[in-house]
Amino acid sequence: MTRKSTYHADRIAELADAIVHHKRAYYGGKPEISDIAYDKLEDELRLLAREHPALSMVGGELISDLPKVSHAQPMLSLQKTYEVAELLRWADAEWVVGTLKVDGVSLSLIYENGSLALAKTRGNGLVGEDVTSKIRWVSDVLPQISLNGTVEIRGELYCSESNFVRLAEEMQALGLDRPNSPRNIVAGLLGRKTYGELARHFNFFGFSVSGQDQDLEQKSEMDQLNWLGVAGFRLPSPQRLKGEAAVQAYLDQVKEAMSDGEVPADGAVFSYDSVAKQHALGNTAHHPRFKMSFKWQGETAISVINEITWATSRLGIVTPVAVIDPVTLSSAVITNVTLHNAAHVKTFALKVGDKIEIVRSGEVIPKFLQVVEAGDGDVELPKDCPSCGSHLQYDDVRLLCQNHDVCPAQQLGSILNWIRAAEIDDLSEKRLASLMSAGLVKAIPDLYRLKLEDFYQIPQTKEKMAAKLFANIDKSRYLPLSRFLSGLGIEGAGRTTWEKLLAEAPTLTDLIALSVEKIAAIEGFADKTATQLVAGLKAKKPIIDALLAAGVKPEAATAPASDGPLAGKQLVITGSLSRPRADIEKEIKAAGGRVGSSVSSATYAVVTEDDTSTSSKMVKARKLGIPVWNEAALKQALEGEG
Ligand SMILES: [Zn+2]
Repeated sequence: MTRKSTYHADRIAELADAIVHHKRAYYGGKPEISDIAYDKLEDELRLLAREHPALSMVGGELISDLPKVSHAQPMLSLQKTYEVAELLRWADAEWVVGTLKVDGVSLSLIYENGSLALAKTRGNGLVGEDVTSKIRWVSDVLPQISLNGTVEIRGELYCSESNFVRLAEEMQALGLDRPNSPRNIVAGLLGRKTYGELARHFNFFGFSVSGQDQDLEQKSEMDQLNWLGVAGFRLPSPQRLKGEAAVQAYLDQVKEAMSDGEVPADGAVFSYDSVAKQHALGNTAHHPRFKMSFKWQGETAISVINEITWATSRLGIVTPVAVIDPVTLSSAVITNVTLHNAAHVKTFALKVGDKIEIVRSGEVIPKFLQVVEAGDGDVELPKDCPSCGSHLQYDDVRLLCQNHDVCPAQQLGSILNWIRAAEIDDLSEKRLASLMSAGLVKAIPDLYRLKLEDFYQIPQTKEKMAAKLFANIDKSRYLPLSRFLSGLGIEGAGRTTWEKLLAEAPTLTDLIALSVEKIAAIEGFADKTATQLVAGLKAKKPIIDALLAAGVKPEAATAPASDGPLAGKQLVITGSLSRPRADIEKEIKAAGGRVGSSVSSATYAVVTEDDTSTSSKMVKARKLGIPVWNEAALKQALEGEG
């Protein structure tokens, strides 16, 4: 140990005391501070005393007497950074694999000759706890795999947002305390001696597989993940990446997943893909040198709920927002915090007067973390739609207004969605609301029937603005088909979804003719999405017809140009690239080509910088003998030298 001043000794004792206290509270299912605040304590202690026993102590050791089991290979921690620049320096120009950083409990699963024999927690990294009987309840953990000998699969056990709602209900029905958050309940339940069956509400992501098998030893990071996916394990959105642009784009996806909130993710983990590189770097006593975790520095604050407001979305979902005493987080003043859905309000018993902790990280919208001190009143859910007054339905998690065609909030929302998709400038929500209350606009096609004088109905609108609005709407008649389609606001389909579909069926007529089976056969489309899309298009047929009749002209933006070196040829892009994928797609389209989303015999070439990839697209391309181009080969083809 290094020499320390008295101040350090005092601070270390203080930190260790706090860590022990909060670990006990956490593993007892009653945490008192946020994970971020807790991490700060550990970070500070690690800085002052790397090897302090409080850092490797596991809460489970304190409260449970589950049997202990050693790990054949230690389960190490991860080195972590909050700085994108540091992450990029570490990743350098190597191939790395990014995955979601999931906030749950790390598990090691041991399979003997294909059968699950043992499931253990990480514990202190050297010795964990046997939780096999509980883990057998987790449906994501496969009881059988196809490998012989002793095989170890490592991954993360977690509780999703929607499973948490069900779990909380069940625990209350059993007379147990209401769990505090999806993050804390996993460790809490594993530490219990009873109610193992509650673990069936948990999910599991597979991260790595290893065994005595020669073939397994040689698998790169991505190959291990691919193997786990094929075997049937759920995967933490892995992607093989190279270069700054690719890593940045991946972090953006992680942010999106974090604000979606279904999986409790709090960052990303990156690993060098190459086995040789992993072996060459090896491990410290604390962490592998070939892995790096990244978290956004999350700032938290405590405030009080003054009001819970409910608003109806364009799809009829009535969502709650907490209006709080203003607080400053990451230099923005926060007055509203989303409470996601009705179930969230019920589960956390949220009400006016509650003192709550909120967090904002990575510019993600502020999120509710936990109730610090409950207020006195009762939890109240609305019975009627705040916009149209019709009686609301409760669908397990959400409150729904079924009055789709008449509900003003839904109409306003769907017209606004069109205005955004068709890029109509200056037509703000306020102006649209005026046109609607004057009875001039009831549905999207009405916009295209407005006369110049109609715009004077908007308060404070003079000649210049009226003319501008009229011209902007007129101009929006000509728009790419993908924007036309996303403007219709069909549930479950954004612009990228439509772009993928248009690569297969480039005109509106082709698209409407697609069957559920045909869409489900396209890579990346589940049966459920396919059904939703076909039903959605059918339901929107009257609006589509009315828009076309009103002179809206969607162009097939992905229709092949008539000439150009790639005229009429379909290319498929896969894996990582040195430049943004959108740029490459643009160049292919400009050269007359089409970009497909799945490999078939109609594919002309597959474009990738990673020709050793084992992605399903590459496997299929190899099977069908379709040429694989790197970016240099594509450049030649674009210049007409293919
Ligand atoms: Zn309504």
